[in-house]
Amino acid sequence: MYGVDERSLIIGRGSDEAIDLLVRTFCRSGQDSILICPPTYGVYEVAAQIQGASVVRVPLVQSQGGFALNEQKIRDVVSAEQPRTKLVFICSPNNPTGTALDRSAIARVCEVAEGRAIVVVDEAYAEFSSEKSMLSELARFENLVVLRTLSKAWALAGARCGVAIGSPSVVSLLHKVRAPYPLATPTIRVVLDATDPDQRASLRERVRALNEAKQQLAARLRSMSGVHEVFSSQANFLLVRFKDSGEVMRATRLAGIILRDRSREPGLVGCVRISIGTEEENDALLRVLREVAV
Ligand SMILES: *Cc1c(COP(=O)(O)O)cnc(C)c1O
Repeated sequence: MYGVDERSLIIGRGSDEAIDLLVRTFCRSGQDSILICPPTYGVYEVAAQIQGASVVRVPLVQSQGGFALNEQKIRDVVSAEQPRTKLVFICSPNNPTGTALDRSAIARVCEVAEGRAIVVVDEAYAEFSSEKSMLSELARFENLVVLRTLSKAWALAGARCGVAIGSPSVVSLLHKVRAPYPLATPTIRVVLDATDPDQRASLRERVRALNEAKQQLAARLRSMSGVHEVFSSQANFLLVRFKDSGEVMRATRLAGIILRDRSREPGLVGCVRISIGTEEENDALLRVLREVAV
């Protein structure tokens, strides 16, 4: 399915297990650190805290209504004289901004990090994106690890199945560290059934329909005066900056619609993450927003 050799693949309990494994395998407690690019997925930091690794933050830079890697700053951290940063986590498309980050910038970071740090590209939302996967760069960089999951486009979050894909040397280290018997037999059965070639065609159709619904929802939101900004998204959600996100959160919660408030994160004042739902769910959301965000 991912077009890689078996020795390059470790299959586990969601890609969250892979994140935890990477940190435990490559970071010494009290000595090493990971690098993250906030605003981003929260589990990298949680895994680091549990392991006693410190966290270096190189925030994404906001430009022309989008987000980008601060490539120079990342390169500076990674190439420091006594590098303590062992893992660079890059989430693309990024959660919660929806941004697909520049592949050539990621490749240049891999280059600088060679022999120093592993660059982990978390592609949990890759199936929704028109941007090419970093999987095609694996042969070039021994220090590149790509994370994929069945929890998002495959709609199998409850099966707990995800993968880390990297060079056999890195993958064999991960195998040594992880707890035994990661996959239950019922999980294996469900995953094999759900990913056979017929199912892959329906995945593509689901993704196409979702992306269309996303564009429609984005257009409706942009026409509302209570909406400052709808960030362009390569994932199955939209990040939206509202004039009054507190009121949006309150009204939607009352209506039984659960959105993700990201307004307290640096650079995300007023921002709420909205997953694309069914047509009925998206309409229900718009009805509530027409009351509070016009
Ligand atoms: C959902 C998510 C994951 C992990 O999901 P699993 O269910 O553990 O595979 C990893 N990274 C990002 C960015 C996610 O949004």
